[in-house]
Amino acid sequence: MDGTVRPEVALDVADGRITAVRTGVGAPAPGDVPLRGLTVPGLANAHSHAFHRALRGVVQQGTGTFWTWRESMYEVAERLDPDRYFALARAVYAEMALAGITTVGEFHYVHHAPGGVPYTEPNAMGEALIAAAAEAGIRITLLDTCYLAAGFDQPLEAHQLRFSDGTAQAWAERAEALRPDGNTRIGAAAHSVRAVPARELPTVVEWARHRRAPLHAHLSEQPAENAACQAAHGRTPTELLAEHGVTGPDTTAVHATHLTERDIALLGGSGTGVCVCPTTERDLADGIGPAVDLREAGSPVSLGSDSHAVVDLLEEARALELNERLRTRTRGHWTAAELLRTATERGQAALGWATAGRLEPGALADFTTVALDTVRTAGPEPRWATEAVVFAAGGADVRHTVVGGRQTVRDGAHARVPDVPRALTQAIAAVRA
Ligand SMILES: [Zn+2]
Repeated sequence: MDGTVRPEVALDVADGRITAVRTGVGAPAPGDVPLRGLTVPGLANAHSHAFHRALRGVVQQGTGTFWTWRESMYEVAERLDPDRYFALARAVYAEMALAGITTVGEFHYVHHAPGGVPYTEPNAMGEALIAAAAEAGIRITLLDTCYLAAGFDQPLEAHQLRFSDGTAQAWAERAEALRPDGNTRIGAAAHSVRAVPARELPTVVEWARHRRAPLHAHLSEQPAENAACQAAHGRTPTELLAEHGVTGPDTTAVHATHLTERDIALLGGSGTGVCVCPTTERDLADGIGPAVDLREAGSPVSLGSDSHAVVDLLEEARALELNERLRTRTRGHWTAAELLRTATERGQAALGWATAGRLEPGALADFTTVALDTVRTAGPEPRWATEAVVFAAGGADVRHTVVGGRQTVRDGAHARVPDVPRALTQAIAAVRA
């Protein structure tokens, strides 16, 4: 509740919410579900592209850059259809559940059939992702993404046609038909300043603000994006977003790696959230972003596994601190409790689940139990459990994942997807050329 570790805690749950938190309860009573380990609020994966999971291993060969990686990614995107995407996302979200993730923010832009031909059901791909999350037993915020251009004043390339609705207005009309439910929130995204022309940004912003929906955008992942934006507009991507009303407390900028001091002040001063994706950023050699400066400036920091080079929010969390140590050669930029908050409460808020992310009465009954008796976590005194988990545990140490009071993962096994590795193998084989 207050960031400290308490022994012998009982969480009373009714109708999917926590009704009471009782401490000093002793041994579980008959009828209780024992959750042995460190139970924390549900982990939130605030930035995901489910289909990138099919690239794991493939893009770890040879040299290459973000831009060559992107070519491989387009090849997989080309082979997706609603059925294949459902199967792949179901397996990937089940992998997330096993790693303790209770909510995923899916930054979704593969909207149409190859060539840009709409499906009979225009939201068939988005609906496949929503159904996949329900099957995998985790919540989803579908961040339906506006993607209209290949770059500043550059028309779409052939493999990007299926990402585009043509105009922001047409994007808004299609996204309008998506419906939230108890497991699903609908949010919006502007893919990036490269992919959404500045004149189209206000339509996306208005759509999101009108619905009080989360609004996300990729921001300054690569210096090349900054250079192209300066050449086209004479300003940084952050300045361009701020001028067009994109920044603000309901907005999350993803990556925010290459920023000026003025960019940091604009993001922090407006309360714009920042989603950092350390395992992807290191995999793609993007760089280390100024997460500490952003936090100090006023930006809530959340985490995402993005390309799913690995799916492990604890690894993302400790990377924030460990990257900073390598960069500055000093320690102690983030406490373990702060890192845990980025992986839970901050991420849930960035995805519009303000009542998840805390263990207190009234909150959604979403939580994750990490075992304290594995080879990685055994040893430390119970009062150091947070430090042990954040700095040494991984997804494989997650024992239980509870979503809305229901055990999605029980004793390390998925309750609804019996063989997750097999599901991944089959779904990935189906989309690999
Ligand atoms: Zn991304």
